[in-house]
Amino acid sequence: MGVVPLDTSRAVELAPRVWWVGALLPGDQLQCHVYLVEQGDKSVLIDPGSALNAAEVVRKIDEVVGVENLRWLVCSHPDPDIISALPALVERGLHPQAAIVTHWRDKALIRHIGIDLPYWLVEEHDWRLQLEDRSLRFLFTPYAHFAGAFCTFDENSGTLFSSDLFGAFADDHSLFATSMEHFEAMRAFHEHYMPSGEILAHALEEIRGLRLHRIAPQHGLVIPEDLAMPLLDRLAELECGIYLLARDDPGLEFLLTAHSAVRDVVDILVREADFSVVVARLAEIARRLFGAEDLELWARTGNTVLRFGQGDGFGGLVAQPPVDVLDALSGATPATGPRLVIPLRSSSSGLVSGVALFEFRETPAMSATTRALVDQVCDLVEVGLERELFRQVAAIDRAAFYEQAIHDPLTGLHNRQYLVDTARRMCALDDRNQRPALAALMIDLDHFKEVNDAFGHSGGDEVLRHVAQSIVKGARSGDVVVRFGGEEFVVLLSGVDLPCARSVAERVRASVAEASGDRTPVTASVGIALRVHGESAAELVERADKAMYFAKTSGRDQVGVAN
Ligand code: GH3
Ligand code: MG
Ligand code: MG
Repeated sequence: MGVVPLDTSRAVELAPRVWWVGALLPGDQLQCHVYLVEQGDKSVLIDPGSALNAAEVVRKIDEVVGVENLRWLVCSHPDPDIISALPALVERGLHPQAAIVTHWRDKALIRHIGIDLPYWLVEEHDWRLQLEDRSLRFLFTPYAHFAGAFCTFDENSGTLFSSDLFGAFADDHSLFATSMEHFEAMRAFHEHYMPSGEILAHALEEIRGLRLHRIAPQHGLVIPEDLAMPLLDRLAELECGIYLLARDDPGLEFLLTAHSAVRDVVDILVREADFSVVVARLAEIARRLFGAEDLELWARTGNTVLRFGQGDGFGGLVAQPPVDVLDALSGATPATGPRLVIPLRSSSSGLVSGVALFEFRETPAMSATTRALVDQVCDLVEVGLERELFRQVAAIDRAAFYEQAIHDPLTGLHNRQYLVDTARRMCALDDRNQRPALAALMIDLDHFKEVNDAFGHSGGDEVLRHVAQSIVKGARSGDVVVRFGGEEFVVLLSGVDLPCARSVAERVRASVAEASGDRTPVTASVGIALRVHGESAAELVERADKAMYFAKTSGRDQVGVAN
């Protein structure tokens, strides 16, 4: 069966009571379509069209409802190809209450066509027009072509009257798109008529959620349901607006590359947490875009200068800057040459806080546009660099706070907080052994109150410092020695059995007693607990404490063992 060609000399019903009433002008790439939503004597004309089409549009409307039944004239933006048919329609005689449906920004321009019709403004009616058997919803798509532009969606038939969105340059004079090949005609149209890719993508986002059965744009071809989403996806990726510069501008290709490079840089800075990766990627972009052989960043932080360069994996190491970098850091204007030195100014202080150094094989001949782009990229890099320095300082502070938090200021030993952190890990490791090999020693000084009484509190402190050193001396090098409380210490021993733990305990006890010498005789009572399988660190220390009390009650200056 052959395909019967569509008769476009007559109105075409796209869906029940939804009509195409346009005119295909020979040689007109824009093909201004006009649509009619048939609603008896309250019918709606969408985008009335061009003066060039008016006679044929009037004839087609008359075939369906008659111009005198046009109650609503939707004008989705104020271009001549949409509104210049209005005088002919008025002349022919519209519905007595006919009104122009539009946005206030469009109205301001449409009124200059000089016809006397009332306006019904979409924003004053909740962006909806209720009809006999359906309601039309208006979707604001400002700047996707014009500041007041909108689309019209008929929820009943699932038809989006998309105005310039989804428009195309039509070389053939058919009415329906049949394949994705149509995208090329849409691409050219959007590249030229849409102000920017971002704005277009935003407008498309509003449309994505609609239950679309077809898209009826003002130009190009009507898009059937199966092509609607795939074409929308392609459009959302499109770079637009830049073509305002003219397609054959020799710098266009560079600008397109540059635009995507700036986007890449922003993307890298936002997504990549590891600054060494950021600099490595920037070096790649500098190579691709400017032909730079190498990129280094230099940053001043306090009294030192950090270098982020290839040699050290872009990690940021303290380094001695070369003369040109040093000059730039101190505010001098860099000379030109194969080393392009660009000072990076802090956005907050305005002072030079770093330097980007691009190395070329020979002095690069840079156009003003390229140089502007380099500066633009460097502004972004400065932000990234500043953020990295903040991060490094914060990391150093964090490490310092932690060190402070896990040490005892009097003796310099680790404290109880550290014991809690470490013992938990050591117990987990110990559970992997067939037989537990972890022991805790609890050490409590004997009659320490008397030391304080005899030498004062600061004299007692001095003794505690001394004793701490003695315990460390008595313990083995890998053992964890902490000050547990006032004059109590804990030692964790790993890889031990009971005889071994006992000998370390005995050595520690002897070391304390010995070190005190004749000046301040101090002794210690020591409790030992050898871990049993599954025992927590707290339970282990608790048992060592009990064993220590046993040593106390048995006469002090001795070692007790937990059973
Ligand atoms: P024993 O343990 O042998 O029963 O007697 P003790 O005198 O050591 O008794 P206890 O353990 O109850 O008392 C500990 C004393 O250690 C009490 C307190 O004044 C002193 N002490 C605790 N922390 C410090 C400190 O940081 N510096 C000084 N100088 N003394 C401290
Ligand atoms: Mg005590
Ligand atoms: Mg004591």
